[in-house]
This record gives sequence, C-alpha cells and structure tokens, in this order.
Amino acid sequence: MQKMTTIEKAKKYAMPNYGQRDFVVSAGKGSYVFDENGKKYLDFGAGIAVTSVGHANARWVKAVAEQASTIAHCSNLYLTKPNVDLCEELVKRIGVGKILLCNSGTEANEALIKAARLHGLNVTGQEGKKTRIITAVNCFHGRTLGAVAATAQYKIQHGFAPLLSGFSYADFNDLKSFEKQMGDDVAAVLVEPIQGESGVTPATKDFLKGLRKLCDKYNAMLLFDEVQCGVARSGKFLACQKYGVKPDGVSMAKGLAGGFPIGAIWLGKKYQDLFTPGTHGTTFGGNPLACAASLATLKEIDVKKLADNATKLGEKLSKALKTIVKKYPQKLVLERGVGLMRAVVFTEAYVNGEVCKKLRENGLLLIPSGANGLRFLPALNVTSAEVDKALKIFEKTIERL
Ligand SMILES: *Cc1c(COP(=O)(O)O)cnc(C)c1O
Repeated sequence: MQKMTTIEKAKKYAMPNYGQRDFVVSAGKGSYVFDENGKKYLDFGAGIAVTSVGHANARWVKAVAEQASTIAHCSNLYLTKPNVDLCEELVKRIGVGKILLCNSGTEANEALIKAARLHGLNVTGQEGKKTRIITAVNCFHGRTLGAVAATAQYKIQHGFAPLLSGFSYADFNDLKSFEKQMGDDVAAVLVEPIQGESGVTPATKDFLKGLRKLCDKYNAMLLFDEVQCGVARSGKFLACQKYGVKPDGVSMAKGLAGGFPIGAIWLGKKYQDLFTPGTHGTTFGGNPLACAASLATLKEIDVKKLADNATKLGEKLSKALKTIVKKYPQKLVLERGVGLMRAVVFTEAYVNGEVCKKLRENGLLLIPSGANGLRFLPALNVTSAEVDKALKIFEKTIERL
C-alpha cells in the first residue's frame, strides 16, 4: 500500500474545523518558511502575528533548549524563576500592577471577563448586580464560550447558544454608541485598540480617550484586548501606549513568546489583587518553558530595537501598499493599519482566499482578514530587503489577477 501524504492523513485524522488545508510547512528560518519539497516562502503572516522574532531565532532556540533540559513544568503549586521574571518584565513594560499567566489569547480574555465580574461584586457587594461587559461589533476575542459571547460576530457565535449572558454590543469607533449602552450595571468595556481579525481597523484616539472617561464615570474597568496588536507590533510595547490611554486591564498572547503557546493579563494597581487565592488558575499557565521562550522574545525585541523596526518598516510597507492600491483601483480599495499590522482590502470582484493562494504560489504568505482583506503581519525583525521582496511578489500577483 502506498504511504499516505500529510494532506491525506489530515483529511482522515484531523477534524475539519480549519477547512481543507492543502499546504504543509516543514521548516522556518527568520522571515522564511519551507514546504515539504524545500520550496521557500516569505512568511508575512508569522503564524498570525506569533513568531515575532522570526523562525528559529538563535536566542529563542537557545533559551527554549536550555530550559527544556533544565525543567519544563512543575505546576503553579510552586514558583519558578522564569515565571516570576516574566511577570516582572511585563510590569516594567506596562506599568504598576500585576500579571496572571495562562496559555492563549482566549484564555487571557476569559481571565479579564472574570476580573470584571469580581470588580462588580466588590463594588456592589452583591453577586449579579454589576456584571455587564460592553464589546464592539466585529471584534474578535477568541473561541472559548466566554470569549465567543464577547465576540459580536454572527459567524463566531452561530451554533453555540445558549451564550454566556451579560454582554452588550456597541459600534467600534463610535463613542455615542458606547455611551448609549452604558449604565451602573456595567462592570467593564472590552475593546481591541486595533481590531485584527475583522480587517485591521485602528481605533481613533478620541474613541479610546472617550471610553476611558466613560468607564471612570460609571466605575467600570477599561479592558484592552492586545492579543494581536500588543508586544511591539504597533511600534510600542502595547498599542494603547501609542494612543496614550491607560487601561485597567490588558490581555496579551500571540507574539508574547515568539511561537510558544502563552497568554497573559495585566491588571493595574487598583485591580491587581482581584483574584484572591483559589479564584482562578491553570495547570500549564506560566510554566517555565513558556516563560523562558517569552523572556528570550522580550530580550530580542529590546536588544534589536524591534519596536522601532516595526514603526520604520511599517511606514515603508504602508506607503508602498498605498501606491499599489492607487495603481489598481479596480482590484484594491484601501490599505490601513499601524506598525507591522497592516491590511489591504479588495474590491468585491476578488475573493481574498483565492488571492491568498495565488500569492502563496508566487512565494508570499499573507493572512485573510475581515470580509475581503489580506493581512501583513511579518516578524518584527523583518528586513527592509524582505519588505521590498514581499511588495514585488504582491504587486506582480495583483497585476496578473
Ligand atoms: C487571536 C486573538 C484572540 C484569541 O487568541 P487565541 O490564542 O487564538 O485563543 C483574541 N483576541 C484577539 C484580538 C486575537 O487576535
């Protein structure tokens, strides 16, 4: 009998929730990945904004290998140095407060939701009185049930009723719409400073500043989901630092450990002790292997000044993409984004999934985003020459559509 290919095996043994996958990655180095035949692709998706310091980064590999051969896991019954060092490093970058470590973006948002509920309990002294969380239409907060209830998108929620109650939705970048939903029963407002999944839509400064005031007025927590836009991708460690708006809590994940699963929340001083002993926990969360990967990632971002690189090359990428958009108005509508989180939106005549496949055939990996967009989320240490090369492949592909 002939040996099954990886694609055939996936069809037989892996659940079909990701649709039909027809591309097998076998290795990566820097901003490149390789398929099973050794063909090289420029990876401008970085595993959805995850491999922030590139594939097989030397510092990251060394740190993970050393930690793996020292101790990988010991549970949260005990302390480890990498775990506590990571909490310290995050507080140093964000501000006075404390950190809770977990394993993914959705899990980080679950922790924020639970923190909001505890805040409501503290304020009212009663369970169930101040529990509502307002989120934005077209947001994305993850796939566990709390995060699904927070995610105001039919395609994410459909099929999973009954949803967790206590959420209401308002329009992104529309302060009046949030004001209308506000009340004393609101425990928190949760938004992405730059919406990722729905097409890379940055918040306006006035919107985030207005939310800050609104939350203060109603004694509600202002929570930012920085799972995608955080960890230097915007040009600052957190996107909200670029806006100059201070939240009460933040969730992080994707790029935080450079490819190792991790999640984290920061809560500011007023809220840092909401989770009292026994109120929350995770077996894997913050294990020394994940924390070593994250510490190496943060160090590489600092030493190589990758936040500045995100600003500089983000501007270069944006300028060039805007020129391409202008050149092909029947095909492209617009470019938008911040730092190295960018998207182009196609006219309705083009299906982003199909364009994505053509780009891949030409050697460039991008990621579909929103109704008809494609995202550029390269590693933060991408070079100017790699950006040029990606732009060349992109324009050539667009020209031939
Ligand atoms: C990806 C993402 C999540 C979910 O993270 P997972 O690690 O996939 O659970 C939540 N919020 C935002 C903004 C994201 O981009």
